[in-house]
Amino acid sequence: MYWKPELETMERDTLEALQLEGLKKSVTSAAKSVFYGNQFTKINLDPSSVLSLEDIRKIPFTTKDDLREAWPYGFLAVSKDELVRMHSSSGTTGRATVIFHTARDLESWTDLLARSMYMAGMRKTDVFQNMMTYGLFTGGLGFHYGAEKIGSLTIPVGAGNSRRQIQIMKDFETTAIHIIPSYALHLSEIFEEMGVDPRRDTKLRMAFLGAEPHTEKTRQKVEEFYGLRAFNSFGLSEMNGPGVAFECQYQMGMHLWEDNFFMEIIDPDTLETVADGIEGELVLTTLKREGMPILRYRTKDLTRIIPEPCQCGRTHRRIERIKGRTDDMMILKGVNIFPIQIEKKLMEIAEVGNNFLIILERDGYNDHMIVRVEVLKDFFSGDLKQLEALRKRITAELQSDILITPRVELVEPNSLPKTEGKAVRVIDNRKD
Ligand code: AMP
Ligand code: ZN
Repeated sequence: MYWKPELETMERDTLEALQLEGLKKSVTSAAKSVFYGNQFTKINLDPSSVLSLEDIRKIPFTTKDDLREAWPYGFLAVSKDELVRMHSSSGTTGRATVIFHTARDLESWTDLLARSMYMAGMRKTDVFQNMMTYGLFTGGLGFHYGAEKIGSLTIPVGAGNSRRQIQIMKDFETTAIHIIPSYALHLSEIFEEMGVDPRRDTKLRMAFLGAEPHTEKTRQKVEEFYGLRAFNSFGLSEMNGPGVAFECQYQMGMHLWEDNFFMEIIDPDTLETVADGIEGELVLTTLKREGMPILRYRTKDLTRIIPEPCQCGRTHRRIERIKGRTDDMMILKGVNIFPIQIEKKLMEIAEVGNNFLIILERDGYNDHMIVRVEVLKDFFSGDLKQLEALRKRITAELQSDILITPRVELVEPNSLPKTEGKAVRVIDNRKD
């Protein structure tokens, strides 16, 4: 049941002592980097003054802009000769950031992925098909080495080429997949086109869903269509990539690997730490990273710590499914709206298909939201009145949650643009 029981079920005080040791090391080694070296001098911080976990608050937050400004090597805490790998963020919000790893860093990362997948139930006997982009993006290689470490037969297909993915699943009797949730929904349409029923014609039994926010309903849809159990996988390239937090077999929030990362949840406005259980922005510090330690990184991801212990016995605390990023938030007529709220409502409506797109427009001083929604094919061959009734119903459902009235447009399945990577949910045409 456990990959490393001594680590995963460690008593909290032992875990915290381990964290403190890691924190001290990280701060001391970070001081060797140009970025933190300058910062510590400026604020007169002596790394040896960090004597407790609370002392982490003496250190300023690090932001994505800091990483960008220190491009490319300003965060290195070791000489370049020690590095063996570079990765980057997917760059969905501006210029990508780069991360460097030593051989030991890669070992720890691999270990985290093996631990995560094993926790969800993947074993040596599984055939693992990795449907994430390989290359600079962390989702490919991160999972790849973790799966090999477990000893599963690992198929590095990468993203896209849907028909081939399905053929490979069938031919090699894939049992576990790693897939972006919006792509999993899209792929279900290709299954239907090919007349392949994943429940009947494949051996799929588990999926790791990661890289983008998705609702519980989306998970259920994937589980139902594919006939498998889907586990939420969270990570970000600045903290290696996947393998930061992962669901166990109870699927009730994600265990964040606290021996590798120190977590804080802050109020994004006041920057004060909030109590366990309260939602806020996740802030992470690497505790084991050699090549590029990062301290108090503002992830912009919104979540909360689940204070109750998990039934699985692991002592690493869980975070709740990510609600979105602070920079995903749309402000319309003074109302704050997250794309995930729209997804949540849409996925509860049975007639809604697998994709949607939010478009924001400005007309004078007025902002408008258009929600383009794919609905099941039957509606387009039938009665126009029926289609209009559905449109009204969707509008009312959305309006009840987001308080403004969007203009809902219904489109045919498979007609909205798709990406192989993270779904683009919002097009904001309001900026000039
Ligand atoms: P990247 O650094 O390009 O891999 O992007 C990392 C970001 O993807 C995170 O900061 C999150 O915003 C998002 N992300 C990754 N995994 C998940 C997940 N399971 N649920 C929600 N968002 C996720
Ligand atoms: Zn658990």
